[in-house]
Amino acid sequence: MAVFGIFGTKTANVALSAYYGLYALQHRGQASSGIVVNDDGVFHAYKDSGIVNEVFTPRILGDLGLGQMALGNVRYGTSATKERINAEPMLVNHVKGRLAISHDGGLVNYAELRRELELEGAIFHTSNEVEILAYMITKARLTAPSTEAAISKAMERVKGGYSMLVMSPQKLIAARDQNGVHPLCYGIRDDGEYVVASESCALNTVGATFVREIDPGEIVVFSKEGVISLREHCQKKPERLCVFEYLYTARPDSVINGCSVHLARKRAGAFLAKAHPVEADVVIGAPDSGIDAAIGYAEESGIPYGLGLIKNKYIGRTFIDPGQNVREDKVKIKLNPVAETVKGKRVVLVDDSIVRGTTCTRVVKLLRDAGAKEIHIRSSAPEFLNPCYYGTDIGSKAELIACKYTAKEMAKLFGADSVGFLPLADVTKLGISGNCKGYCKACFDGEYPTELPLDTGDRKYDHKISENKQ
Ligand code: AMP
Repeated sequence: MAVFGIFGTKTANVALSAYYGLYALQHRGQASSGIVVNDDGVFHAYKDSGIVNEVFTPRILGDLGLGQMALGNVRYGTSATKERINAEPMLVNHVKGRLAISHDGGLVNYAELRRELELEGAIFHTSNEVEILAYMITKARLTAPSTEAAISKAMERVKGGYSMLVMSPQKLIAARDQNGVHPLCYGIRDDGEYVVASESCALNTVGATFVREIDPGEIVVFSKEGVISLREHCQKKPERLCVFEYLYTARPDSVINGCSVHLARKRAGAFLAKAHPVEADVVIGAPDSGIDAAIGYAEESGIPYGLGLIKNKYIGRTFIDPGQNVREDKVKIKLNPVAETVKGKRVVLVDDSIVRGTTCTRVVKLLRDAGAKEIHIRSSAPEFLNPCYYGTDIGSKAELIACKYTAKEMAKLFGADSVGFLPLADVTKLGISGNCKGYCKACFDGEYPTELPLDTGDRKYDHKISENKQ
């Protein structure tokens, strides 16, 4: 999931800027896209299932009109919440006015808060957590003197790893959870417009210069009065940036907490080469997110990097899944090996992660069919052993292959010659050139920075709660 917002004082084509900003953040979610334009306090909104350039035709963008502010979202639907009704931003009319709200991440006390609100008479239209944020903020606004004060009050109750953007008729407000699990930053354009985005690559795309990250727990208000920072939730909990942002989620050209994602991935590849060396002829990366780590592996090991797999760039929502009745193989439609790189060679295949193991099994077959002599799989993430409750679709333990098999068993299962994972001790060193004070790596080690949801069924008793829990 990703959020994007723009705040200015002059009337401009803010919808188009939001469109390009969301386009740059598309990798963070493809289930739905939405933009709300604010023209002197009047909101014009459009959202639907699908990726940005499918949802927003030139006519729809034109209909959104001009404005001084805009708020946008691309959403990554987990299996339970993919429906169209869950598209963001969410628009609410409340007793003090109107708000548009959008978020990235996950709440751990969603069920608890929903129950509490329902017992007070609230009705919910979606299964999207953003509706909880909307209710908590509007409820707090009944007594709070401003929207930002209401957000602050809501943040006392809402728990999880989330970043949010809220637009009122007069203000654009950005907030990040107290652990700072997901990234959020802002920049400024030459014309004085402020731009807030989940990742810095979106600032670059719309011509904004990076100013800084929003700090964990911070609320930043953009209004005619300028930029105001509220820090009452800051430094109350230890920083816990999701390390998977560096490994998979973010775009390599983004900089998170002062560290280039590309460099962090290359570093992961280098650590991997040190931990799991192998005699081989070529290192290839699984496109797209395995490429940077493959380059790092190649540099560290001295084994040449080669272009071994090509991904069809045009796979989007319109990709028609061949299902089981058709002979075409889904993976072959998406990926094709470069036989010249792998034929007769001992190949190191670097992927960013092995979650369920489906990709590895398929890619190994592709490479064998293309004539690879040996295939050594290297994952630039450690073994996934725990679900994520902060917005990344890492499901229950039953789905995670590393919970069931050792690396040796996995190699056999995939038809590979060996499998190696990034050692857990190395994940906290990936962002070493940046300024992050701590990471969430709960999917690997079970050390969650918050309490856990009460409604996790069989997963309920599986986890240790981090000592940092507050
Ligand atoms: P799997 O095939 O289940 O082992 O998943 C691993 C592949 O999925 C890797 O190639 C990753 O690039 C990709 N991946 C990792 N995490 C996620 C996620 N949360 N959502 C979608 N794809 C993912």
